[in-house]
Amino acid sequence: MPQLRQNPATKEWVIIATERAKRPEEFQSPEEKETPQNKKDCPFCAGNESSTPDELFAFRTYGTKPNSAGWWIRVIPNKYPALVPKGDVKRMQFEGFYRHMDGVGSHEIVIESPDHERSLATMDQKQVEEIFLAFRERYCALKKDGRFEMILIFKNHGRGAGTSIRHPHSQIVAAPITPNHIRHYIEEAMRYFDDNGTCVYCEILSKELLKERLILETENFVAFVPFAAKSPFEIWVLPKDHSSSYERITDVHIKELGFVMRQTLGKLHKALNNPAYNFMILSAPCHEEDLEYFHWHIQIVPRVAQVAGFEMGSGIYINTVIPEETAKFLRETKV
Ligand code: ZN
Ligand code: ZN
Repeated sequence: MPQLRQNPATKEWVIIATERAKRPEEFQSPEEKETPQNKKDCPFCAGNESSTPDELFAFRTYGTKPNSAGWWIRVIPNKYPALVPKGDVKRMQFEGFYRHMDGVGSHEIVIESPDHERSLATMDQKQVEEIFLAFRERYCALKKDGRFEMILIFKNHGRGAGTSIRHPHSQIVAAPITPNHIRHYIEEAMRYFDDNGTCVYCEILSKELLKERLILETENFVAFVPFAAKSPFEIWVLPKDHSSSYERITDVHIKELGFVMRQTLGKLHKALNNPAYNFMILSAPCHEEDLEYFHWHIQIVPRVAQVAGFEMGSGIYINTVIPEETAKFLRETKV
């Protein structure tokens, strides 16, 4: 019997399609046929620093100059930005009935390694930790710009996840608005708090520690497949202690998060043969700090299923694998 499941944090429904359910191992990606991009032409490779805009931040060997070799993580403005850090935010601009604004914002690239062929699943532990440290540095720097409401850190891994450059990188976009998608998360969490007096994510955490959908647990973090996973192998990573903003993460917790992310992505890499995936760090809007009802977290979505007309028309996702089975499969995958 198929099952409709509701995500308690967003009230969204999904269908767990048991009638056409697949086994977790059926989602393995085919061997990648594309040839590696020529490193000489790759703007993110070490030695090609002059082909990118000037760096904003880097971890580099002491004494080396900005925009030269010697770095191991480098943050640059996107050469083709979605939004640009120029101008004022004027909300009330109308064209007749329609509202518009200047595209003020920021769009940065975090080059995660000088090594073209690495990925978060195959890097050294320390490198992954420092990527998450760079995320926090840039998050805090962008937050100081009072024009921004939303700062989204995300990663597109593989062609199926929307990236055209193979070199390992992630992105940070700051926007002067809180979009409806994020607002929905915040408002539903607020509603849950009003009704129950607790953070819905803290509640979810207390349930997921019962192990059925758990993938990995450390002292301060949990990785699990959500009860109402929208797509096969969706994973959430949450800090155990309540906190609404990623920027507040401590150095010690960043080390642990680096471990959890490397392990989790390593399991995905091994279990599904390096699938394309996206991850997003969902954090409270910039001007809404220390929310007792929202809990920052990371959503990892492997791109192993197509979103089609039914999902687009109804907002109900069909998941053709049972979340408990994918969690068991990943839990038992050793990296
Ligand atoms: Zn490269
Ligand atoms: Zn919480």
